[in-house]
Amino acid sequence: MDAHSADVAEATQTDAYYCEVPSDPCLIVMFGASGDLARRKLLPALYDLALHSCLAPRFRLLGFARTGMRDDDFRKSAGEFLPKAEEPGGASGKKEDFLQHLQYFKGDYDDPDAYQQLVKRLEELDRERQLGGNRLFYLAVPPEVYMRIVEHLGKAGLAKPVSDKAWTRVIIEKPFGHDGASARELNEKVLSVFDESQIYRIDHYLGKETVQNLLVFRFGNGIFEPLWNRNYIDHVQITAAESLGVENRAAFYESAGALRDMIQSHVLQLTSLVAMEAPATFEATSVRNEKIKVLQSIRPFATETIWKSVVRGQYGPGNVDGKPVPGYRQEPGVKRDSAAETFVALKLHVDNWRWSGVPFYLRTGKRLARPLTEIAIRFRQAPHRVFRGENLEENSLVLNIQPDEGISLSFGAKSPGAQMHIQSVTMDFQYKRAFGSGPRSAYSTLINDCIRGEATLFDRADSVEAAWALVDPILDAWKSASAPPFPNYPAGSDGPRAADDLASSDGRRWRAL
Ligand code: NDP
Repeated sequence: MDAHSADVAEATQTDAYYCEVPSDPCLIVMFGASGDLARRKLLPALYDLALHSCLAPRFRLLGFARTGMRDDDFRKSAGEFLPKAEEPGGASGKKEDFLQHLQYFKGDYDDPDAYQQLVKRLEELDRERQLGGNRLFYLAVPPEVYMRIVEHLGKAGLAKPVSDKAWTRVIIEKPFGHDGASARELNEKVLSVFDESQIYRIDHYLGKETVQNLLVFRFGNGIFEPLWNRNYIDHVQITAAESLGVENRAAFYESAGALRDMIQSHVLQLTSLVAMEAPATFEATSVRNEKIKVLQSIRPFATETIWKSVVRGQYGPGNVDGKPVPGYRQEPGVKRDSAAETFVALKLHVDNWRWSGVPFYLRTGKRLARPLTEIAIRFRQAPHRVFRGENLEENSLVLNIQPDEGISLSFGAKSPGAQMHIQSVTMDFQYKRAFGSGPRSAYSTLINDCIRGEATLFDRADSVEAAWALVDPILDAWKSASAPPFPNYPAGSDGPRAADDLASSDGRRWRAL
């Protein structure tokens, strides 16, 4: 029994993530294998899959990038990001076994010869390892490189499956486009080379266990869905807050900003999952059909409403976790007069039967008081005040996506004593406590889904374009006007005052971070 098989035997006994059936043998070609995402997230995610027997034991990964490296260098650099010996899954034999599956190919993304050599290398590996011709191309490169790689894959004949039994798929990272026009252009290019069924547009938020649990919570239980509508819900709040600053992504952030980076993708995805109708089945087409209906029902932002319904912000110097931190404009790589927004809050309406009149408040930002991603459903108050004199809080259902994954429901309870006093209490479900293990990395979930041909948690061409169609008018309006006086919130706060006004002008308030 080799190290991998021994580990699998161990995993079967104890492990929730153990795969009863390994995936098809396959060859993963990772473009941008020398980069941050590949090393920090993707290779550890693949190791996790190998460890839990989700990858076929004879899978191969070929890292493709311009940096000169030998196989050993690549394995060494990958090994630095795998769990340490004392961490779960870090026992060295298992890591070594995994690393032996990795190989490296130095090539330029624009060089047709590199793709001709790649064809030969893939054929060799396929033959040697009997991989059945199954191939996954992962584009972990900056967005401006996606189109060129896709075009070359097409020209080299690598986009078509090698036989009727084999599959070829491509994972494309986010951001998918810079605006609606560029997303359409990218879709056209990718669809001229691959069929939609081969394309997996990734938004790693959708791989989070708690995001998937939202669907189970709503549609796997009989008790919540009857309340999930305008008759019982006053409003919805979705927050994706980070306490980190721009870190080493200034170049990207300067041209992207929070609206593109977070709202267009993650936050609108969460909105779709909260607001969608029940799909007929938990299959890709059914789920995606329902999700896109939500995006199509969101009232478009008219120019005159943007100034009232959308707030942008940028952090100045402040304190996070008791430590002083610089403002955005003082971060390395950021222009001293940058107009990039590091915070967005907005109010939107889903104009359909279920949600008519229920506002959705969305906010995201960097350098906020604490990291928190949550969806809060605020219910209407009881229709008649039986307990006079008591100030009853509204009931809230909070789905915590990260960091303390779980769900809590707040309601009023009588506090002990002779008087009738009502106090808000919570019923809590916590992932770790209930299941004894934390959620798996989103990338493990999504890569596992892709190699099994399961596309439910990936974006379809039409939904990416629909999300851009909502965001484009805001970007246009911002472009045509000067930015508000930035910075307009101190690092470590809950965001700009104007965001509070957005909710308070409706008689509501944001949940504290
Ligand atoms: P990197 O900047 O680290 O780039 C990845 C690799 O691409 C580099 O190692 C480099 O490899 C090559 N590369 C970099 N710039 C260029 C260029 N201008 N032209 C051609 N090749 C270039 O990116 P990340 O790994 O951070 O991100 C990869 C993709 O994943 C991006 O689309 C990003 O938006 C997305 N993403 C990243 C996340 C993260 O946490 N890093 C999170 C979510 C999405 P070489 O020079 O060796 O060819």
